Amino acid sequence: MGKPLSQRTVPVCRPVFSGNEKKYLNHCIDSQWVSSEGPFVREFEKKIAARVERRFGVAVSSGTAALEIALQSLSLETGSEVILPSFTIVSCANAILRAGAVPVFVDSDPETWTVDPKKVLEKISERTRALLLVHLYGLPVDMKVLLEAARARGIFVIEDASQALGSSYFGQPCGSFGTLSTFSFYANKTVTTGEGGMIVTDDPSIAARASKLRNLCFEDHPRFVHYDMGWNYRMSNLSAAVGVAQLENLDSTLKKMRENGRLYHTALQGLEKFIQLPVPERPYSTNDYWVFGLVVKPESGFTAALLRKALEQKGVQTRPFFWPMHLQPCFSRMQIPPDLDISEHLGREGFYLPSGAGIVEEEVHYVTQALRSILIGEPTCERR
Ligand SMILES: *Cc1c(COP(=O)(O)O)cnc(C)c1O
Repeated sequence: MGKPLSQRTVPVCRPVFSGNEKKYLNHCIDSQWVSSEGPFVREFEKKIAARVERRFGVAVSSGTAALEIALQSLSLETGSEVILPSFTIVSCANAILRAGAVPVFVDSDPETWTVDPKKVLEKISERTRALLLVHLYGLPVDMKVLLEAARARGIFVIEDASQALGSSYFGQPCGSFGTLSTFSFYANKTVTTGEGGMIVTDDPSIAARASKLRNLCFEDHPRFVHYDMGWNYRMSNLSAAVGVAQLENLDSTLKKMRENGRLYHTALQGLEKFIQLPVPERPYSTNDYWVFGLVVKPESGFTAALLRKALEQKGVQTRPFFWPMHLQPCFSRMQIPPDLDISEHLGREGFYLPSGAGIVEEEVHYVTQALRSILIGEPTCERR
């Protein structure tokens, strides 16, 4: 760091490696176990599964790979419908399409930004085979009625808990709900392995199928005879070693994330006329502020793009919210009903500030002061 904050950039995320990461990486190198056959992979699978109260963990090479394997491991019939939010990452829709199923997009709640449960219920049809629920930005989906509806109809639930490791819903860990759950360990996630992911489940047959699919559907004997097409989506021992060390610090990471979120929330009080702040809590969960998101209101005189530009000029990095799936050029051949206004609004006017455990208090204050002075102190800024 060194330089004063006004002369350097506040990054949108800064991964933290303050535990046994180097020590465990050295174990890998000293023992020459670097591939997926190494012992850290099993250890990481067991520890993540235990943390979220699941029986099985299957480590893979990314959160995207986890979603692909998850969808494939359900063996859906071609044309089955899978309901998911439009406001999510493209990996979700890709995985559904690649499994031969049809994504059915649902709009989000304007306050929580997660999928609107009432609208999910409305879209359940004869052809629905699964719900893909995505916890977003530190707040879980309100899943109660959806889990009940899915159970009553024999529909699978896939929980994308990539942004919710360590979060909970009515006191139960995110990643413990539904048929199976997925995680990502990308660099901005609460536990990172650089790149990585995991599928967790209580179902032994899904776990077995997922482990086969991630490993080219090799058989024990004869080894090079394949009964199905799989992928090489294995996680290396090197990645898992970092993951095991990261997991040892998960609780302090979560604590810091939440503290930063609360600091932002307090420091941005009074600006609600101009920007919508994240919901601090719901009866089912508190916000863990995996990232601290904002939605820009027209009253501010700014659009998200203009406000992000003004922040960038003050050395504050930001990231836009997801661009909704139903507006993606790559899905433009699909017939999509035009009832996804909230997703579009979030996609246009939402972005997030420097967040997570690696951002220090001084930086949070710098960012909020920058935002405050842009919104209320500097009539010279370019406005809409
Ligand atoms: C990060 C993320 C993914 C994708 O994970 P990768 O490891 O980047 O492939 C999937 N879903 C959600 C909700 C995510 O946040």
